[in-house]
Amino acid sequence: MNLSIQIFAALILSVICGLIAGPDNLPFITKWIAPIGTIFINLIKMMIVPVVFCSLIVGVTSLGGDSRKLGRISARTILLYLITTAIAIIIGFAVAGLIQPGHGLEAMGKAAPKIKEAPTIMQVLVNMVPTNPIASMAKADILPVIIFALFIGVAITKIDQHGNQVLTNFFGAAAEVCYNVISMVMKFAPYGVFALLLPVVCKNGPKVLLPLLSVIACAAIGSVLHCLLVYSPLASFGGGISPIKFFRGMSEAMMLAFTTCSSSGTLPVNMKNAQEKLGLSREVTSFVLPLGATINMDGTAIYMGVCTLFIANVFGVHLGMSDIILVIFTGTLASIGTAGVPGAGLIMLAMVLQSVQLPLEGLALVAGIDRVLDMFRTTVNITGDVAVASVVDRAERKLAGENKQIIK
Ligand code: ASP
Repeated sequence: MNLSIQIFAALILSVICGLIAGPDNLPFITKWIAPIGTIFINLIKMMIVPVVFCSLIVGVTSLGGDSRKLGRISARTILLYLITTAIAIIIGFAVAGLIQPGHGLEAMGKAAPKIKEAPTIMQVLVNMVPTNPIASMAKADILPVIIFALFIGVAITKIDQHGNQVLTNFFGAAAEVCYNVISMVMKFAPYGVFALLLPVVCKNGPKVLLPLLSVIACAAIGSVLHCLLVYSPLASFGGGISPIKFFRGMSEAMMLAFTTCSSSGTLPVNMKNAQEKLGLSREVTSFVLPLGATINMDGTAIYMGVCTLFIANVFGVHLGMSDIILVIFTGTLASIGTAGVPGAGLIMLAMVLQSVQLPLEGLALVAGIDRVLDMFRTTVNITGDVAVASVVDRAERKLAGENKQIIK
């Protein structure tokens, strides 16, 4: 049985067992089964710092050399990627803010209330800069680790070619190792999810199911809104492609993304379709799309907004404005560090939750339905890459046209 089916089965099983066991058996379950869930959470936590550090460096170094054209394309692409990702989280928050998923589960709140008071924006900015990166890593202080990784990544692209190659390969391989460890940890996920959810269902009874359906609804609505409000105008005004032509040209890759849940796996089809069906240039697509499959994850960003609010609701934590801004910021960076493989977003969600001190136990609730959420987010992820590519391509064509006229 494949892993996502196993996790989903664990979710169903935990609901059935939890309903049968009821609140009377809660003390036994809390003592003997819940710790297995804690072990699973610890295993995920174990990988947050290494995976963020290595994959962010890989993301930055994949920008490669520094020719002027590459610089210009990179700047445009990255700016558009960042803006669309930040908008995606805001859309995720807005939809979740309206639907308020997780309210039915508030009983969990007593178990894990928010401990610290949220810092101010200026405090966050100051704390983002590490004084000692190793200490930040040891404390799993994610923001300083991100800043450190960004500096190292940029610095690697500036050293001589040999050194650059060695370090790029090293961090690329290290990131692969992290993903391998994560796949091993994820094999344990069905047991972890079962152990984490069982006490929740025992305590809450059947009302545990409705909030999960509302999370899926939020992710689906957020994805459709993002496609209509962001990608349609980008493709038509920025890329000169009508939305109907754009989505028709994208349909095959979107379906593949929906079923495989992997941006990287969809990349070859996405590149082919962008060139053949939407007429984008090979030069732009071969740079913008692989970069997008690595760093541009708007669907994952929507998911982060929705799930953060969901988990906050479940634990009865109120997120203030500074928390929301922090989530938009860390969520944007987290989605950059998310690999284009199934389930990667769940790990990065841990980082976002940690940045606003939300309990990681909330991940278990999301993990059970993660495959369904992944289908939506991966589809949006790959569509966003092509929408941005269409804008960059048109800008490059215009520039090339202007240059020709000047030469004439
Ligand atoms: N599965 C997603 C992708 O490949 C990443 C994620 O898990 O958010 O784009």
